[in-house]
Amino acid sequence: AVANSESSHWSPAHSSAIYRIDEWGAPYFSVNSSGNVVVRPYGTGSLAHQEIDLLKIVKKSLHSAFESAIQAQCYESHYQGVYPVKCNQDRLVAEDIVKFGAPFRFGLEAGSKPELLLAMSCLCKGNPEALLVCNGFKDAEYVSLALIAKKLALNTVIVLEQEEEVNLVIDLSNKLSVRPVIGVRAKLRTKHSGHFGSTSGEKGKFGLTTTQILRVVKKLQDSGMLDCLQLLHFHIGSQIPSTALLQDGVVEATQIYSELVRLGACMKVIDIGGGLGIDYDGSKSGNSDLSVSYGLEEYASAVVNAIRIICDRKSIKHPIICSESGRAIVSHHSILIFEAISATVNTPAMNQIDLPLIIEGLSEDARCDYWNLSDAAMRHENETCLLYADQLKQRCVEQFIEGSLRIEQLADVDGLFDLVSKVIGAAEPARIYNVNLSIFTSIPDFWSIGQVFPIVPIHRLDEKPEVRGVLSDLTCDSDGKIDKFIGGETSLLLHELEGNDGGANGRYYLGMFLGGAYQEALGGVHNLFGGPNVVSVLQSDGPQSFAVTRVVPGPSCADVLRMMQHEPALMFETLKHRAEEFHVEDHDNDGTNYATLISSLARSFHNMPYLKALSPCSYE
Ligand code: PLP
Repeated sequence: AVANSESSHWSPAHSSAIYRIDEWGAPYFSVNSSGNVVVRPYGTGSLAHQEIDLLKIVKKSLHSAFESAIQAQCYESHYQGVYPVKCNQDRLVAEDIVKFGAPFRFGLEAGSKPELLLAMSCLCKGNPEALLVCNGFKDAEYVSLALIAKKLALNTVIVLEQEEEVNLVIDLSNKLSVRPVIGVRAKLRTKHSGHFGSTSGEKGKFGLTTTQILRVVKKLQDSGMLDCLQLLHFHIGSQIPSTALLQDGVVEATQIYSELVRLGACMKVIDIGGGLGIDYDGSKSGNSDLSVSYGLEEYASAVVNAIRIICDRKSIKHPIICSESGRAIVSHHSILIFEAISATVNTPAMNQIDLPLIIEGLSEDARCDYWNLSDAAMRHENETCLLYADQLKQRCVEQFIEGSLRIEQLADVDGLFDLVSKVIGAAEPARIYNVNLSIFTSIPDFWSIGQVFPIVPIHRLDEKPEVRGVLSDLTCDSDGKIDKFIGGETSLLLHELEGNDGGANGRYYLGMFLGGAYQEALGGVHNLFGGPNVVSVLQSDGPQSFAVTRVVPGPSCADVLRMMQHEPALMFETLKHRAEEFHVEDHDNDGTNYATLISSLARSFHNMPYLKALSPCSYE
């Protein structure tokens, strides 16, 4: 009764508090009065109905954070960022960033040849001053492609990631008669100690040491190309936990920058890489990979301040500030929505347990346990109850293994044990919610590096969630489960699944938030589950206040088979011949005729690998 009255006073605000929806990430999500998760628009009034999307909001705020810091500190240059396409190479994401970023000269960063092709074609429609930063290890083909980009009047910078690349740049730029703009990636000594910091420090994988930078300067000077060296880049890792560490890195890099100016390079840009973090758990603690202790404004202000102080001290011109923030730009833009398809059974009610059936098969000792359990229950001796229930269960398992207890009896004993545990308030084990999802494909960072993302039911938040559950995916892999959640929880409060025709048609939808960066690009095809269907939604006027602008079905079974070099057309032919060989032309024993069998086989290749039986609108 107490639980019921609490449930009836449950409000969306309670749900918002337990899932910390108002805290994690930037404040873009909330729960509306119907108990559904909503994406908050950037502003109110007219802004709320403009055709803007999250990408624009985030990028605009990144730009304005730097602009405010620049104005407040009388910094004498500007900020122009680039988006590292590796965080999400989706065409619409890259195109939107270039389109909405044009007024801010927002550009793109590429780390491989296909990413460069992508960035080149997107930037053809962008602001001509937007930077095209070419990072990553390079061969002659990569360097030639970057030089072609320069020929096509894209504002291209070839950033040297290894010392030898300078030779390629010098030779090929002479051959192609292009004057390149060159950057150099510095290997800083400043080390970020979190998981993502392994790329930083003297032993880090990327960038040039001070000795190598000096050799590059000498080579460029000898070739009459020192004026081409214009950008200094560093990246100390993603999720920089504090502005103190950020400032250490920026100060060190600005010292190198100022030394390059002294050595005669025509320096113009300092590129501070990525690292602008997301506060996934809303704790603002900065003491784990899940949290950073600063906001956007503090980040921008720390960067501007550190560069300004060093440059003023050395009396050099303030450089253009470029950042390569990926996580902070795209994490919020996508929400992975998936369905819980079933859950392990609930504890049975007393009237569902057949006590006479249990007693009938019990051994002498087990029967004693049973009566002792009943006595302890009458006297409300909780611990004794649990002791006898456990002993009874163990004896019954032994009896079952010996063959002296039937499966129905054992099932009822299991139910009795669960009921006793529940009634006396012993910790109920978390139930398993089976979800129509592959963690390896859609949340790879959870599996590979233990990254926790906010996961929340996206509806029924006006009801109290009373079940503790963990999520188990479709893959046949014990790692395919989510049992770590925001706030250090090992289970998630969830709602009881309703029958197939109850509630929202028995469907229960959960959303995984803040996973718009890296997850799509990193996901694999374990168990041959491909990506999910992708729906692009744009905020708009009109009755629904949104419009679906693109629907891209996820890969079919044939598509994922092709990824592993199978040939679905041939496979289908083989199976068809087999059907002919085994004469399924006419009605066979179970009434399946040849045509139905063949079309069902064809559909199996055509459909998605995810489950679809349970709800009419699942993956079609
Ligand atoms: N730039 C470079 C060179 C990177 O390696 C990365 C990612 O690790 C980024 C930018 C993006 O970093 P973040 O997602 O932390 O903004």
